[in-house]
Amino acid sequence: MSYMPVDRTGAAPPLWHALSERQVLETLSTSATGLSAGEADRRLAAFGPNLLPEPPVRTIGAILLAQIWSPLIALLLAAAAVAAAMGDLEDAVFILIVVLINTAIGATQEYRAQANTQALRARIRTGTRVRRDGTIAPIESRALVVGDMLVLEAGDRVPADLRLIAASQLQADEAMLTGESLPVDKLELRALPEGARLADRTNMLHAGTMIQRGRCEAVVVATGGSTAIGQIARALQAPSAGPPLLRRLDRFSRLLALVALSLVALVVAIQLAGGAPLRETVFFAIALAVSIIPEGLPVAVTIALAVATRRMARRHVIVRQLAAVEGLGACTVIATDKTGTLTLNKVAARRLWLPGEGDVLLASAPSDEMARALGEAGALCNDATFDPAHPDQASGDAVDIAFLRLAHDLSLDPAALAAAHPRLRDLPFDAARKFAAALNTAGGGARLSVKGAAEVVVPLCTGAESAQALAVAERMAADGYRVLAVAGRRFDAHDVPDAAALPAAVDRLTLLGLVGFIDPLRPEAKAAVAACTAAGVAVKMITGDHAATALAIARDLGIADRPDQIVTGRDLEAGTAYGPPGIERLARARVFARVEPGQKVEIVQALQDAGHVVAMTGDGVNDAPALRRADLGIAMGRGGTDVAREVADLVLTDDNFASVVAGIEEGRAAYANIRKVILLLVGTGAAEAAMVLLAVLSGLPAPLTAVQLLWLNLVTNGGQDVALAFEKAEPGLLHRPPRPGDEPILDRLMLRQIAVAGLYMGVVAYAVFAALLGAGRSAEEARNVTLMLMVLFQNMHVFNCRSETLSAFRLPLANNLPLAFAVAAALLASLAAPFVPGLRDVLDVAPIAPDLMLLLVPIAASIILVIEGDKFLRRRAAARKAQTC
Ligand code: ADP
Ligand code: MG
Repeated sequence: MSYMPVDRTGAAPPLWHALSERQVLETLSTSATGLSAGEADRRLAAFGPNLLPEPPVRTIGAILLAQIWSPLIALLLAAAAVAAAMGDLEDAVFILIVVLINTAIGATQEYRAQANTQALRARIRTGTRVRRDGTIAPIESRALVVGDMLVLEAGDRVPADLRLIAASQLQADEAMLTGESLPVDKLELRALPEGARLADRTNMLHAGTMIQRGRCEAVVVATGGSTAIGQIARALQAPSAGPPLLRRLDRFSRLLALVALSLVALVVAIQLAGGAPLRETVFFAIALAVSIIPEGLPVAVTIALAVATRRMARRHVIVRQLAAVEGLGACTVIATDKTGTLTLNKVAARRLWLPGEGDVLLASAPSDEMARALGEAGALCNDATFDPAHPDQASGDAVDIAFLRLAHDLSLDPAALAAAHPRLRDLPFDAARKFAAALNTAGGGARLSVKGAAEVVVPLCTGAESAQALAVAERMAADGYRVLAVAGRRFDAHDVPDAAALPAAVDRLTLLGLVGFIDPLRPEAKAAVAACTAAGVAVKMITGDHAATALAIARDLGIADRPDQIVTGRDLEAGTAYGPPGIERLARARVFARVEPGQKVEIVQALQDAGHVVAMTGDGVNDAPALRRADLGIAMGRGGTDVAREVADLVLTDDNFASVVAGIEEGRAAYANIRKVILLLVGTGAAEAAMVLLAVLSGLPAPLTAVQLLWLNLVTNGGQDVALAFEKAEPGLLHRPPRPGDEPILDRLMLRQIAVAGLYMGVVAYAVFAALLGAGRSAEEARNVTLMLMVLFQNMHVFNCRSETLSAFRLPLANNLPLAFAVAAALLASLAAPFVPGLRDVLDVAPIAPDLMLLLVPIAASIILVIEGDKFLRRRAAARKAQTC
């Protein structure tokens, strides 16, 4: 019987766990060596890619509804209803149009932001390793078909539902599927009872779970929507809460709304006391509230964050959690992996040390017996693939690949070797154990091959040369080599250890030699470390490598230069790094060496206790807790494991430390842009409030009608706030210290800027209004002029908001064309309004005489001088402070 996923007879799929391994392979018309590429293509075409059903996207309708469902819109609709009830249809229609334009702008922007995040998500593709046509090759998970034979190891995400064919020390984390929080053993190869529950199917692996430990070969039995998880996928796609910044801003907006409402209440009370008609007063109060509440804020913030994620993606940083964008801007410490992030992870053997023969540089490959024995052990204890004809298609661990390369250099043939000595069982490499071992048949018995950190493996060896070997390893490490020891042992047929006895059998080994590997630094790493230091972000290196190797590399990078800047995993374990002085020592350390992945959590915790906002890079399965714990978990897009990527906030698509610096710059820029938006929205709202309050307090009529206030709001905030969210990073952003992580949005600097701008514009506009009335103009005429003045004021002020510190004249307009466009459109609309029949009457505006216009423009431009003066004073004060420090 053969079964294929789309079964036209509608029969239920077999219970794979209840079939024997042979039955499974037969049913799927495959074999232990996998499918042929042609058959796989045929199945892919017939049954479709291995993709989970997509999470539901919010439709434009749903977004629109959410937009309308806001207190502000409710307020405006209430105003429209009041107007209509009073028979003032013109005003009611106008308000409805304002509502429409507002929601349309908001909804389209939010829709675009959503499409953007989706596109980014699609860029993180997962891969796996498949056996096809008899060879193992990397493949994208989406291209898997039933019958494919996979080779998986610790850190891999299980890409489909699989039935085990071979397993070694295999454990999987199935929490997301079964809720079981501990890793479960997956070692059963035989058939299980038909009734076994999902959680008890120890001969199966399920899509979406993670391999915590060990290695296996397994055949794909179900893909995409047919997998166990595919069938319950929708239930798992819970919406996540928004980023903390959005929540904080939400609180901020509510506070502002409260302030606005109190102010409005005050104005209303005064007006009513002065005998103003109720209807007009209520209507006016609503318009004033609309002016003060920065309703554009949430949308502009979303856009600023979305813009940042797009810019970061261009610079190789994929944002998985929107909150990480602002977090990057506040980051004070980066704890980074050495291997692969600061270095290229292009490990190459450079030196050999053979017992009794001494040190050899590998330029001239030795070809004697000792070297061959070492090369064979390194090739047998190995899970990588490497073909010298296609060196760029190598797959597997970098150290393993380097060992295969070494074997070729020693004129060995690893493939033939592996075929001649089939593997019986093995202990896969584990960063906590720091070595790997494999047991292969040899003659009638077996041979054990071990490779790993010198100071772990050498003590397991018998023989007189151990002390010397350790001294040599130490010396090579101090020169920056990563030193691995290789050892072996033979077993006769009658005492070949079984799986349970294997760990204990890694003892009384024969030392075969030491290999010194060089892993070149990434060319950009040194400059990136310097850039971080300039930006006030400390860089700490974390590695499983030897302290001496680590220090040599840290020196080259400018991270550390003295041994006392190193804390080792042993120090952490001994607790010498603990207690209040200990935490300090930990926080001061520059390099963490011989660290076990589990200890990374402690390091992150200690740095956080010392008051740092910690970014942490990681790639392994064991790094996941630390990545989750850190304020910013950063995973590697190429080299890392799927588990790490799953929990990280950010993914570096080029695995390059320098990209973190780019991320910090964009994160700071995004935060700065959000502040610019607030400066504009709250500053202009304050100006309008100040003007109205002054007029009402001094017994004058309202300086703008309700409809005029709404119009003003539309042409000064409608697109300009969003344009500010597109502002490019200011020069010098990476030469400032990080902002304090707990800094409130409304800090003193922000208050000062809002007060200066708001008061100045408000007072001047009030003065002009009062002067016009004093000169005998009618209230309508005075309002007409005041409205134009406010439009000019606020559209000039937009340019002030482009930077909090730099002069507006130093920021090229070409850097933000959307802004120029938005301002031009606003001015045109204001100039044209008096000539548009319907609009003219609602707004009650008339063209302004050219001579008056010539007066208004310089008055409005003065806001630029005022803010420039304020910026200048602040810059000078900062320079003074820097001098005295
Ligand atoms: P890092 O944090 O620098 O990547 P690891 O934790 O991966 O370091 O490795 C720790 C030590 O384990 C290394 O110094 C090396 O001695 C040893 N090691 C690394 N990779 C392998 C491997 N594939 N097989 C055996 N031993 C290894
Ligand atoms: Mg490593």
